[in-house]
Amino acid sequence: MSTVEIRNLHKSFGKLEVLKGIDFTVESGQVVCVIGPSGSGKSTLLRCVNLLEQPTSGTVVVDGIDLTDPDADIDAARRHIGMVFQQFNLFPHLTVRRNVTIAQERVLKRSKGECDHVARENLEKVGLIDKIAAYPPQLSGGQQQRVAIARALAMNPSLMLFDEPTSALDPELVGDVLSVMRKLAEDGMTMLVVTHEMGFAREVADRVVFMDGGVIVEDGPPEQVIADPQHERTREFLSRVL
Ligand code: ADP
Ligand code: MG
Repeated sequence: MSTVEIRNLHKSFGKLEVLKGIDFTVESGQVVCVIGPSGSGKSTLLRCVNLLEQPTSGTVVVDGIDLTDPDADIDAARRHIGMVFQQFNLFPHLTVRRNVTIAQERVLKRSKGECDHVARENLEKVGLIDKIAAYPPQLSGGQQQRVAIARALAMNPSLMLFDEPTSALDPELVGDVLSVMRKLAEDGMTMLVVTHEMGFAREVADRVVFMDGGVIVEDGPPEQVIADPQHERTREFLSRVL
């Protein structure tokens, strides 16, 4: 499983400095939850970890490979990083099966038979094997998000990034997605999860990172950051979300 080391990460969009020197690490098999107000830079941070955004300065090291090194094989490194977005991003005109096999086939060059086998395995894992022939618009949001997780897992990632995976879901659908994520954590996946689900963070995270205004204000075990925050900004944020 992966490790992530982020050192003095800065990211600006034009004159707007969104990340102002971020430092933290995720150890192999750890789950780190990132919390913080809207606009604090959480998504930008996640997108810098798989180079969907190019950092302005600083380093992002995944499994010992510095992704900010111009000579790094970014495509190869990125292949081991799965990402799940708030808005699922499934292909609506393709079946669930095809959504889960297409990147395996095109990026990993697996045979049709192997793609199908891996798709079934991962759809079983997220409890949706019976939807293999369905199209995404026929599924609930929670089911679509679980397909998106299966799609990411089918690429055999060693690191999973989640950006508010349950924020677009009706409340009654959140639990199924969180329990899939919890199982993944129990299986030892290294996970970096941006979330507002404090229950999940408290129960599953090894560490919770609180971001505000492009900096990390607090970083520690959930029983500290959520239950006994040391900073006023953290307390104020938690009083709004808990
Ligand atoms: P969060 O996920 O914590 O809500 P984001 O990382 O999405 O925060 O955004 C942080 C800030 O960066 C916001 O002010 C947002 O408008 C700005 N931002 C994010 N992406 C871009 C972009 N591609 N171009 C310009 N500004 C951006
Ligand atoms: Mg965001």
